[in-house]
Amino acid sequence: MTYLYNGDFLTESFRFRSNPEKCIHCGRCIDVCSSQILFEDPEAGGEVRMRPEVDGVCGWAGCYRCQRCMAVCPTGAISILGKDPQDSVTPDQQATADQLAALMRMRRSCRNFLDKEVPREEIDEMLQLLENVPTGSNRQSLEFSVVYEKETMDKLRKLVHDRAFELAEEGVYPGTFNKTDWECQIALEPTRNHGDMFFLNAPHILVVSSPKGVGCWHIDPFLAASWFDLICASRGLGCIIETMPVGALSKMPEVQSLLGIPEDRYFGAILAFGYPAEDFVRGVQREGIMTTHEIKL
Ligand code: SF4
Ligand code: SF4
Repeated sequence: MTYLYNGDFLTESFRFRSNPEKCIHCGRCIDVCSSQILFEDPEAGGEVRMRPEVDGVCGWAGCYRCQRCMAVCPTGAISILGKDPQDSVTPDQQATADQLAALMRMRRSCRNFLDKEVPREEIDEMLQLLENVPTGSNRQSLEFSVVYEKETMDKLRKLVHDRAFELAEEGVYPGTFNKTDWECQIALEPTRNHGDMFFLNAPHILVVSSPKGVGCWHIDPFLAASWFDLICASRGLGCIIETMPVGALSKMPEVQSLLGIPEDRYFGAILAFGYPAEDFVRGVQREGIMTTHEIKL
């Protein structure tokens, strides 16, 4: 049997390359590989290559596309997925612990948005960052449905609002709500929710979905939602991770379909975001409210 290591097939898929002129044979890429599929090929002068699958032992097809091999190589000898190691960020560029702590303490749920769109280019930049969100087994099968235009958002707002009231007339309420919960939301709508109990009058929403039943499908969207919330905070944007519209949409398959989320995809949260209407000049002080249990065995 002929195996294609760095041949055409891999060129099409993982595009793993190691540059023999740069390789110093330190073995770090082999040790760090999540799938343990790299080896120094004696038939190619010790060049690092992907292993084929032999006798049930995981081969190149098990590559997680995690890029750890490229990230650990001290000489930049490795390229995978067509990436140039020179284009990677480096440790000196990452946020410090203090910067991250300040960001987390300044972050809060936004419940009041300005009537102003975030530029499409900025939303795209934020979405691109979400490609770094960890996903179970690095499946990266999240999909993002986003409303860029406020005009579309206003149409969606009216659609969901009208349909929710129609359903309530029939005794069908959002998610697990009962009649009392629903009436409570109606009472709060003009004040706390600025006339929009579902999307809080935000100019944009983001819905993160995953394929039901595949990998960590019920966790991955929440991780992405949490990251997006922090990305918004880092740019001075307001964001809120909402479950109320999820409950509403669970009774409106036709609206889900309009959002590009077929029934075989799961979404646990909808993020509303935009420029915040309030300027907060202080972060939140929460120290001491969590319970911690030390595990000792
Ligand atoms: S991308 Fe990850 S799994 Fe694939 S070869 Fe590199 S380290 Fe191994
Ligand atoms: S980490 Fe880089 S230098 Fe070290 S063995 Fe792998 S390819 Fe060669």
